[in-house]
Amino acid sequence: MSKVPTAADVVVIGGGFAGLSTAWWLQRRGISVVVCEREPELGVYASGRSAGLGRQLAEDDATSRLTVRGAALLREHFDVAWHATGGILSFDELAAAEAYVGRAARLGVPIEVEDRAAVLTRWPALGDLPVARALFVPSDGMIDVQALIAAFAAPLTILRSATVQAIVPQGDGVVVSTTRGAISARIVVDAAGAWAGTSTGDPPLASYKRHVFVLAAEAVARAPFLWHLGAREVYVRADGEHVLASPCDAARIAPTDQQPDLVGESHLHATLELYGPDLADAAIVRRWACHRSYTEDRQMRLGRDPARRWLVWAAGLGGHGATAAAAVGEQVADAVVLALT
Ligand SMILES: Cc1cc2nc3c(=O)[nH]c(=O)nc-3n(C[C@H](O)[C@H](O)[C@H](O)COP(=O)(O)OP(=O)(O)OC[C@H]3O[C@@H](n4cnc5c(N)ncnc54)[C@H](O)[C@@H]3O)c2cc1C
Repeated sequence: MSKVPTAADVVVIGGGFAGLSTAWWLQRRGISVVVCEREPELGVYASGRSAGLGRQLAEDDATSRLTVRGAALLREHFDVAWHATGGILSFDELAAAEAYVGRAARLGVPIEVEDRAAVLTRWPALGDLPVARALFVPSDGMIDVQALIAAFAAPLTILRSATVQAIVPQGDGVVVSTTRGAISARIVVDAAGAWAGTSTGDPPLASYKRHVFVLAAEAVARAPFLWHLGAREVYVRADGEHVLASPCDAARIAPTDQQPDLVGESHLHATLELYGPDLADAAIVRRWACHRSYTEDRQMRLGRDPARRWLVWAAGLGGHGATAAAAVGEQVADAVVLALT
């Protein structure tokens, strides 16, 4: 096990995308940073279990600014983890499609408006999908989440099996107690995912369980991912020789190690029965579940705490944290630099 440093400029709680990316940007700026991860491995929770869709147009402009910037940074610095496939967003209501057309225009994301036939050329398996309009986003892509975790982690000092237990303000910084020893720091970044706020006694985020399934079915070669933003949501993408699908379920849960369950599976089957019965019959090759965690207003909590000068947040990444990861870290690292000066 790596030696535990006794001091650093910054201690980051959590070795998911939020914490790793923040530490990666801080290290580039010459700031000494230690990431404490409770688990013996990285990516045990949401980051390692993400479906890896690099979708830039999210549900609101603020989140989309982060996903657009995040995708640009992935293309620039982490091309090992980015696959330029494009993505399709489809809608069963024209008004919903129009809202996304407006968002794309405001954020400068090129799109191509498509009809149902064009969608089904790429995803014939979803032949009953009720598509009123679709948008093809050529600059969307797919993210190899394990490769991205490895790329963020490569240059960093990471303490694995190091649970942050307490943070005690002392002088112009804090002492961070972990299960592997104490570290003095000027700033703590709370990037603890679903557990953000636990170490500081803040109210918990709201967490929602989501399932992902890999099906023994074939995707059309080089098909972009398809995310149907209808009354009944679903997304699919190629996964090697198979098809990855999520019924976009969102059961409110307490953050623990989520395991796939029969409720998630029946949600998948009910959705696919409606949209693509052949896909509904495909055998499940792999399955997993995890939680997506949100603040009350569903905006990511990034930046300095208003009351505690030693605390900076990188939390509430919700359902877009893989795509936004590099932009989240960039923004949080800016806030840390300000807090250190
Ligand atoms: C099923 C699923 C599919 C998804 N698909 C996509 C997608 O296609 N595209 C996309 O962009 N996003 C997707 N997301 C969202 C994305 O995965 C998350 O937004 C992102 O991974 C959250 O990262 P995080 O670092 O905040 O949390 P996490 O990855 O959960 O990391 C937090 C870490 O903090 C550690 N920790 C907690 N408490 C402590 C402590 N006291 N001391 C030390 N360590 C601690 C935890 O062990 C954990 O490793 C998906 C999420 C889920 C669940």
